[in-house]
Amino acid sequence: MDSPHKEHPANIQGLSNSLAIVPDRPSTRHINLHNQFVRVLLIEDDAAIASGILDSLRQAGFDATRAPDGRSGLHVVAHDRPDLVLLDLGLPDLDGTDVCRRIRAESDVPIIVVSARADEFDRVLALELGADDYLVKPFGNRELTARIRAVARRSAAATGQPVETVSDDRTFGPLHIDPRSRRVTLAGAEINLTPKEFELLDYLSRSPGAAVWRTDILRDVWGTRWYGTTKTVDAHVAAIRKKLGNPEWIQAVRGVGFRFEEPP
Ligand code: CA
Repeated sequence: MDSPHKEHPANIQGLSNSLAIVPDRPSTRHINLHNQFVRVLLIEDDAAIASGILDSLRQAGFDATRAPDGRSGLHVVAHDRPDLVLLDLGLPDLDGTDVCRRIRAESDVPIIVVSARADEFDRVLALELGADDYLVKPFGNRELTARIRAVARRSAAATGQPVETVSDDRTFGPLHIDPRSRRVTLAGAEINLTPKEFELLDYLSRSPGAAVWRTDILRDVWGTRWYGTTKTVDAHVAAIRKKLGNPEWIQAVRGVGFRFEEPP
């Protein structure tokens, strides 16, 4: 945090509001799509892992800083009041679950645990300690930013803030995708997608024009612990194309995977 003494009044009453409020324009209650007003604190001791995560957060437009251990993390949370905390569980000084508990005792800031510990005990424990979500390393950049947005949406909803103010719906010509209501319309007509079809279309359409690897799709849409075949992705793509009535919405990229694009 470059301005530790700047007051962010929204943070005092709760995380979701602080995520949503633009400091110099307090009436604007939405998450800026470029994320530049969301200040993320990463508590992570491994310098290499930390720098990778910080890079991807900054690329996504977040204002990201790092604390290398539990105590400095608690200090930054107390003094700089970040909008969201990414917390590693394996820290050199304090156990991450302890850090989680201590943050939660004093603050409603959203916490996403990021850890190499994939076993269910840790997941359940972290969530019981008040973490808002849990990501198992390694994870993709898109998954990380998607989780941050999802946590922001949920905490906004939980505090009664109108959920539509954090909408990240998208329009591509005749196609409208609204993650909040999970509705897709094409030229005004609703397209009925299965939950996974929706998640896949939602995911691909977050980076229009970009070639996305099949393995990234599997990991981010089907989950880090899903060990299926990439044919599953192809089958879902085929179903979405059929429902959209034009295969060009999702193009195959040879040797890579797929690209979402508005057809010419
Ligand atoms: Ca660690």
